[in-house]
Amino acid sequence: MKNFRILTTELEAIKHQMEQLCNLFRAEFGGDGLKNNKLVLKLANCANKKCPYCPHGPYWYRAFFNTRTRKFMFKYIGSSLKKSMLKGNEMQHWDRLKFYDNEIKRLKKEKQLIIKELKKLEK
Ligand SMILES: [Zn+2]
Repeated sequence: MKNFRILTTELEAIKHQMEQLCNLFRAEFGGDGLKNNKLVLKLANCANKKCPYCPHGPYWYRAFFNTRTRKFMFKYIGSSLKKSMLKGNEMQHWDRLKFYDNEIKRLKKEKQLIIKELKKLEK
């Protein structure tokens, strides 16, 4: 069985890969500029400030401009992308979007296995 140090190092590596995946998605799909309905892939922090598993996700969101705050906000649309969630010409990028979606699934599965091992050690 792996020790705590190895598992936490692996966990950090997975978190890093998830961040890289979000960066890659952003670079491929329009950079940092936001506009209404823009599809966004991002990580999320939970309410627990000491959560060792944060950030969570990445999840899919749509950007929308909040006229009151004059800022873009993000509406959660799901943890995995379905064709029915796409808008406009996004369908033509389905293969690439699915690539990201599959990468998310793969990384989340790896993360879950590491967390499971860590929880075993805590007992
Ligand atoms: Zn958390």
